Amino acid sequence: MKLIEVTKAFATEEQCLAYLEAKRWPNGVRCLTCGSKEISRITRKVSKKTDNKRAQLFQCLEPTCKQQFSATTGTIFNGSHLSLDKWYMAIALIVDAKKGMSALQLQRHLKVNYRTAWYLAHRIREAMNDPDGLKLTGTVEIDETYIGGKQRGNKRKRLNKDVVLGIRQRGGPLRLVHVKDSKQGTLYDVIAQHVDSANTKAIMTDDAGAYNFRLTKFHNIPHSKIRHSRREYVKGDVHTNTVENSFSLLKRAVIGTYHQLSIKHLQRYLNEFSYRFNRREDVELFENTVMRMAGVKPMPYAKLIEQNAFTPFVRPTPKTSEPF
Ligand SMILES: [Zn+2]
Repeated sequence: MKLIEVTKAFATEEQCLAYLEAKRWPNGVRCLTCGSKEISRITRKVSKKTDNKRAQLFQCLEPTCKQQFSATTGTIFNGSHLSLDKWYMAIALIVDAKKGMSALQLQRHLKVNYRTAWYLAHRIREAMNDPDGLKLTGTVEIDETYIGGKQRGNKRKRLNKDVVLGIRQRGGPLRLVHVKDSKQGTLYDVIAQHVDSANTKAIMTDDAGAYNFRLTKFHNIPHSKIRHSRREYVKGDVHTNTVENSFSLLKRAVIGTYHQLSIKHLQRYLNEFSYRFNRREDVELFENTVMRMAGVKPMPYAKLIEQNAFTPFVRPTPKTSEPF
């Protein structure tokens, strides 16, 4: 579904609710508490004061249950003061934006305040976390990139910079993980979590000393190193260009869109980027994302903003170093 189609199909709360209902209960609404099929519908007037409540409710008719619920109960949309059409529009905008969508852009499109837009974008990003548990196989390229400040100079001297480990299966998915440093043990833990040691045919890295698998469960897998330290970039089949291409896309997106992003939230931006990247061929990306969100437990705002996580938009001041 394209953005324009979303705008037309989900212009009202009723349309959004009907869609959610049809997707959540393709065989008819069932009580979320007891599973009963005996349900009655309640339609009520929603005033400004009660705009936290849905206009359409279900009432379980099971005498021992009598639970009331709505199509959004138990989903990320529940308890939000924002109307569903704004949620849907935000999802459509974010899945459509190859370079990402800042809270400021979202604010303009949705005509909501900045804080609402910021919160909304982060809730959507949270749902883009890939918990499928599937590990990468085949030929796997691994490389790291550095976030913040200038990127020149020797990799090992890049202190005080945030490290993102990229792992990409050739012809397959990408994983981006914000790691605390680029030490061997740190990188290995992440690699072991994302790469299937039993079904990987080859590992490609550069010649950084941190990539040493001799004493690990990857020791039997052919490991080719491209000698970036000697300005060697491709040697036959040996290169890390596939994962590096993802890095440059990521950086273009982030520099162009987010200007200044809080490192505290870096992993969420990485999730958003790789989610969209890995699903770039998915023609039902909007629909699938809405469903994913319907299955995701809501994240309370209090949790999101703990440790002063809320970062108001600050127009970047020109500096000698790039913000990203
Ligand atoms: Zn019930």
